[in-house]
Amino acid sequence: MPPSLKELIQNLSLLPGIGPKSARRIAFFLLEKPQSTAERLADSIGNLKAGVSFCQICGALTEQDTCMICGDISRDISKICIVETFIDQIILENLNYYHGLYHILGGTLSPLDGRGPKQLRIDSLLTRIRQPKVEEVIIATNPTPEGNATALFIVDLLKNYSVNLTRIGLGIPVGGDIDLLDSETLKLALEGRMKIEKHVDG
Ligand SMILES: [Zn+2]
Repeated sequence: MPPSLKELIQNLSLLPGIGPKSARRIAFFLLEKPQSTAERLADSIGNLKAGVSFCQICGALTEQDTCMICGDISRDISKICIVETFIDQIILENLNYYHGLYHILGGTLSPLDGRGPKQLRIDSLLTRIRQPKVEEVIIATNPTPEGNATALFIVDLLKNYSVNLTRIGLGIPVGGDIDLLDSETLKLALEGRMKIEKHVDG
């Protein structure tokens, strides 16, 4: 096998959900297509990393310093919805139901994978919550063991702040990730979010 083909297959197999077999199939597919197809794909991958970065406020992907949601003055700035990933934010946003702001953690706490609070966007979350206009923090991490542990961590972290804490998903089946739910179920989960009682120190 030519080294360039071998290298492409190796790189493709690093992508999530793509095993060596699929990587080979994609590589051969590209070989059979005109040069322009492969070039367009290569360009869009290159442009992605060059042009897209994280919103300085919420951590969403954006081509500006701040994302469209953080920059939209019609949003309800009294609410911040905490999600694990940018994909979760897009899914909630597509419901066209919630009009507050978001905060994207960038994953969940997972000590076994070496992900602690420092690996998540926790510091910037605290900075935002100190702003007096924030009244409600909606925790929308997934109802998985990691998502629940992360939710508990956030509840503990925010217990001395004067914001209402709510958690979506008490109606979501356990283990049902946000990206696997239909929009009606998700809307109900958001609508029926439950207030979390805080055990304030002192
Ligand atoms: Zn943003």
